[in-house]
Amino acid sequence: MRRWSGSAKDLTEEIQHQTGLLNILIEPPALRTIRLWRSKKLLSQPKGKKFGFRQILEGLATALLLKRGWTLASIGEVLPNFSDADMERQILAESENRDPNWSAAIAQGHSFAASLHNIIDTAEDAVVLLAQGILKQYTRVLNQEIVRQNDSMPSELYRAMCKLGRLYIEEGTPDKAACVHTVLDRARHSFRSEDWRLKVFSQNDFRFSDVVLIDPDLYVPTSDCTEVAQANGGWGEDNVVEYRLYQRLKTYTEQLGTRRQHLGYTALRELAVRHSLIGEKALWDYLEDRQLLPLQERIVDTFFDQIPESWLIKGKANRCAYCGTLMHPHPNDQRFKEGRCPIRQCNSRYTPKVSEALDPEQHRLLVAKPQILTYWTGPGIDELAIFDTAKQQGLRAELYPESDLCDVSLNDYEIGIDAKSYISPVSLALRLNQSIGGLVYYQRRIIAISDQLIADNPSYLSTLQSTLSKKGDPATVEVLPVSAVIKLLQEVAYAS
Ligand SMILES: [Zn+2]
Repeated sequence: MRRWSGSAKDLTEEIQHQTGLLNILIEPPALRTIRLWRSKKLLSQPKGKKFGFRQILEGLATALLLKRGWTLASIGEVLPNFSDADMERQILAESENRDPNWSAAIAQGHSFAASLHNIIDTAEDAVVLLAQGILKQYTRVLNQEIVRQNDSMPSELYRAMCKLGRLYIEEGTPDKAACVHTVLDRARHSFRSEDWRLKVFSQNDFRFSDVVLIDPDLYVPTSDCTEVAQANGGWGEDNVVEYRLYQRLKTYTEQLGTRRQHLGYTALRELAVRHSLIGEKALWDYLEDRQLLPLQERIVDTFFDQIPESWLIKGKANRCAYCGTLMHPHPNDQRFKEGRCPIRQCNSRYTPKVSEALDPEQHRLLVAKPQILTYWTGPGIDELAIFDTAKQQGLRAELYPESDLCDVSLNDYEIGIDAKSYISPVSLALRLNQSIGGLVYYQRRIIAISDQLIADNPSYLSTLQSTLSKKGDPATVEVLPVSAVIKLLQEVAYAS
């Protein structure tokens, strides 16, 4: 097998075959994915050459690391440091359910660019998800289901293990988070204890050092576990990450003093929506105009990445003509010759179009991190459409007032509007049933739903209405399509 060679299609089949033989729990990549990985240089063979044995290993390793929560960018950084033999050893360890040691490459002097803050973020997200996973798992145990490591594991627990695995790897110690039983056993000790052996858990900025999630004697979730699980504004990875971003931004802007804090918050959220692809000079000007230069370093660190070369198309950074972000190369480069916008709220609405092709040699360019694009830039498209219309109509409108009481407010506390782009109307209703957030401070409370979502799912509004609680705050919100809200603004302007 070491002398194997073949085409992309052969490689797809061979990886599928090996996945079965080795009995490793991954989704074998499809041909399209193999091509994408090649374009991102995760598969290292030179262009025009056939694939070989090394690419089988790289393909399996990529699938395994993705499953553990790695990003393609970080996988691309570590794979070249593995010899064939090292990579083979890790894959076999996975196959035999032994704790694999992906850190070998890192121990050989490879250093991750991730700053301490990013690591602490991952650590805190991991702990919150672990607490949520433990509570869910415990409910299942009460219902006499058996703890098994497969798809029926609560997704929070699974995502927590992926993140913990990542932390072990980044600290250069063997991955101690591959087995659910070991992780649950360790949760009977505080995070700073010897049992976890993660340095990040003893850092000053890490808030959960002393937390114990499972009672050491009684084997039930502690009250700390419940607190931590509920600490971050909702269940599941999406809510945990979104809440953390929000907290981070609030902490930064609080340092500006009470007078400028809310203005700073709005300016930075607006930056993420209107300028998710920006040159360093333009960013500097934006921050200087709004007296935010003291935060520059932290903003760049939290919001932006340098553009990886693999995202350039013919050496250029293509800007989306609609939302202004960076277009990504697409495996189907016939249909998407100039790339495709990565933002769902944009690419589901428009056919790809480039407004300008920027030369990274001429301007130093930055692009918003994937989580910023997902949680702020994408949802922000509707939010800003509403805000801009209100302004054009001469209404007294505020964007993200008081550090995000709602998305757009009109005439102080008269009308509060939140734009939502949840794909599932049920998830949105459940979220609103828990809390309608800052909308409670407004006389009239409007939830605006993306028109595209309603076009794709004609029963969206009726499903949402029927799941929404008929009592309390949820019963006081009006649900309207964004287009109807925009029409409403024109009426309000006309009436005043
Ligand atoms: Zn776009």
